[in-house]
Amino acid sequence: MIKVSPNDVAQARHRETIAAGDYWLYRVASGQTLRITDLQGNQAADTLFFNADDTAERYSVSETLRGQKNVFLTAGSVLLSNDDRPMLTLTADTCGRHDTLGGACATESNTVRYDLEKRHMHACRDSWMLAVAEHPEFGLTRRDITHNINFFMNVPVTAEGGLTFADGISAPGKYVEMVAHMNVLVLISNCPQLNNPCNGYQPTPIEVAIW
Ligand SMILES: [Zn+2]
Repeated sequence: MIKVSPNDVAQARHRETIAAGDYWLYRVASGQTLRITDLQGNQAADTLFFNADDTAERYSVSETLRGQKNVFLTAGSVLLSNDDRPMLTLTADTCGRHDTLGGACATESNTVRYDLEKRHMHACRDSWMLAVAEHPEFGLTRRDITHNINFFMNVPVTAEGGLTFADGISAPGKYVEMVAHMNVLVLISNCPQLNNPCNGYQPTPIEVAIW
């Protein structure tokens, strides 16, 4: 569902550009609104959410999809935790649809999906593990890396119930916005994938803004 936000990005209390292939680990307080903007279009922002006060509680794909009875995320979607509690609600969305089934790219899946030679290419799971290793102050470990949301990524479900990676439906300047219902840690890998059309084979920067 397309829903435009009333928020003015010039009034945001924090703005930051995440380079293609980089990660972003940040604490968003309860009540704050986070916007992720696809600056150049066709990018995928592979995102994990944790309760900042108890990181054993985290975003759950299964709770969220069961709760909303829809496999895609858009404005109105409530992101539920593994304790079945609302973590964030998507309040605006100019892209229209986001994937949470496809998972994140990893060196292992790159070899299975594409070629054994792809094993050493940069992948989202590596970015998350680097973030966790470089920021012990958040109390996360590699065991906390689980299922995620792929904001802006187009993963259509086929009539037979399969998943496909397709050219993106996002475009330059499209954004998704969400309000936090608890203090959350946001861990984004701005996907470096070069082997499928989700980002047009060319990773590009995204921007985050917080009100
Ligand atoms: Zn990726």
